[in-house]
Amino acid sequence: QIKEFDKSVNSVCPFCGVGCQTTINVKDNKIVQVDGRDGPANENRLCVKGRFGYDYAMSNERLTKPLIRRDDAPKRGDIDMRFMKIEDVFREATWEEAMAKSAEGLMAIEKEYGGDALSGFGSAKGSNEEAYLFQKLVRQGFGTNNVDHCTRLCHASSVAALLEGVGSGAVSAPFTDAMVSDCVIIIGARPATNHPVAATYFKQAAKKGTKIVVMDPRQQDMMKFAEHALQFKPGTDVAMLNALLHVIVDEELYDEQYIQANVTGFAALKEKVKDFAPEDMAEVCGIPAETLREVARLYATSERSIIFWGMGISQHTHGTDNSRCLIAMALITGQIGREGTGLHPLRGQNNVQGASDAGLIPMFLPDYRSVENADIRSQFENVWGATIDPKRGLTVVEIMDAIHEDKIHGMYIMGENPAMSDPDQLHARAALAKLKHLVVQDIFLTETAWHADVVLPASVHSEKLGTFTNTNRQIQIGRPALDPPGEARQDLDIIIDLANRMGLGWTYDGVSDVYNEMMLVMPSLSNIPWSRLIKEDAVTYPAKSENEPGSAVIFEDGFPTADGSGKLVPADLRAPDEVPDEEFPMVLTTGRLLEHWHTGAMTRRSDVLDHIEPEGIAAMNPYEIARQGLVVGEMVSVETRRGAISAVLRADREVADGMIFIPFCFNESPANVLTNPQLDPFGKIPEFKFCAAKIGRY
Ligand code: SF4
Repeated sequence: QIKEFDKSVNSVCPFCGVGCQTTINVKDNKIVQVDGRDGPANENRLCVKGRFGYDYAMSNERLTKPLIRRDDAPKRGDIDMRFMKIEDVFREATWEEAMAKSAEGLMAIEKEYGGDALSGFGSAKGSNEEAYLFQKLVRQGFGTNNVDHCTRLCHASSVAALLEGVGSGAVSAPFTDAMVSDCVIIIGARPATNHPVAATYFKQAAKKGTKIVVMDPRQQDMMKFAEHALQFKPGTDVAMLNALLHVIVDEELYDEQYIQANVTGFAALKEKVKDFAPEDMAEVCGIPAETLREVARLYATSERSIIFWGMGISQHTHGTDNSRCLIAMALITGQIGREGTGLHPLRGQNNVQGASDAGLIPMFLPDYRSVENADIRSQFENVWGATIDPKRGLTVVEIMDAIHEDKIHGMYIMGENPAMSDPDQLHARAALAKLKHLVVQDIFLTETAWHADVVLPASVHSEKLGTFTNTNRQIQIGRPALDPPGEARQDLDIIIDLANRMGLGWTYDGVSDVYNEMMLVMPSLSNIPWSRLIKEDAVTYPAKSENEPGSAVIFEDGFPTADGSGKLVPADLRAPDEVPDEEFPMVLTTGRLLEHWHTGAMTRRSDVLDHIEPEGIAAMNPYEIARQGLVVGEMVSVETRRGAISAVLRADREVADGMIFIPFCFNESPANVLTNPQLDPFGKIPEFKFCAAKIGRY
């Protein structure tokens, strides 16, 4: 049956960092079909989310008018949004009243306590232009660097290690390079679930002969395509990776010439990994010594090897150390800087790469340039006509702690949902409830928005024009296909309006004008003018000239570090912060499901996706369920030192013995009530992937 559309608009998928290009087909201002397009990251492919997860945009739960908290609303900490009526908590307001209240509340706090009493969370789901203006507003208008976003909860540790080791936080080669690699290592990532279209390339590569090595404490679909599947003990990643490095050093599989020319710190690394013989580490990580030796040999001696990793190894208190080990593997074998080789942290949200590049980070101005460097600050100050605070700001979890310590009193949150995504969620929600002034800009009344003083109705991805940068460093154009519902406004307009009410006098003439300013302060955008993006739809940065394609592979001629060398940083063995004991004998790990995205704000309002995965679950393997005397399908209680939740018990053979897996997208079974907020000391990422828990009948 041929459907008739009013229009078909070329855009990109709003969900994961793969960045699939789409065509959005619209009838009567409603999306009726989404098709894959021939983009550089998807070649017409889409996964179930991209193809069927579009209807959240038309949900009748969309915010259509600004809301202001009623004077007689219940106390914020007492609210369970599932059982409240919106009208008991909020009243509708005009934009004029809502914006005036937003600005006045924030300015009053700045006047009384100073700029550092304010903070902002921007969004990895918004465009690059929105991210750029959001961080500029916090820095210029609030007068603080307390600005962050969900990168802190996914790859902050990877970025910290990459900046330290190779001078750039982005990937060194696209995931499509797996097709020309001889050996692909996938560690702590579940691409078939979380980057499904990328997984199709990995599977294709395996079918044509590429050797795949999958390392994950949980079994997974990609293991069916793997030469080696290493189901290591949770939390022992550094032991396993240092064992691989030991073999490469011990059996002299490293590339002496490459190291001499490009790498520093080899002597210290050699010394460190001496103590990590596979025969000693086998017991620690649960992988036979011979397997570790075979994997190390395969990686080091293949002509082209590439490593992909995800949050399975980044979300640990030793997350930065995990990435340091991977960087060391690539640097000492010279498996970097050539097609089919390199380092690729698979980025989570559709624009987490771009939002980070655009400066939604408390220690860096756009393009990862330190706020603590006076020369760099002055470059931005000249363009912005503003003074920038010389000290780094606080990160996501630190901001919540600072609210509890009465150091932060006001927040502006755009498109993020810390009431669901932060670790130790009850602590995070208590922090939001304690704020003197909270402005939330979003498309739905999220768990976070319920805490707000002012809620500003914003636009979804398919209603806006802007650029989005995927995991491959491909900057792509998203185009508007729908009009925002009711009085909902474009996020960019709301940010500019707020800035001007705070006296900043911004005069941007549309999205391209913001992008043009970004080009002035972000060298990564050189040779990629707006007109080129409109014409080509996707351009990889960096680009050497306007007429050549961008550089898919970087580090061909050394590294953008102070001395041009890659730096090896040996990693110590460090136990997870909280290990199982008699009272809490299980290991809890959290993550995603194929059908749901992040905190579920969008996908749980998508009919097809929520029908496939409709309820909060806790998963264990069937043997563990039998051992615990539980029954599949019953309600169970899962408890940690921070709280307890209930969920439906699911049997899942992929989950290891002694382990519970809970996805963090279900507000009826909120996994982050349980998680440990302890931070990696370098990347400041919490330990979502490991804490001690117990389970019982509800
Ligand atoms: Fe969207 Fe990611 Fe699926 Fe592609 S793989 S359709 S970007 S969710």
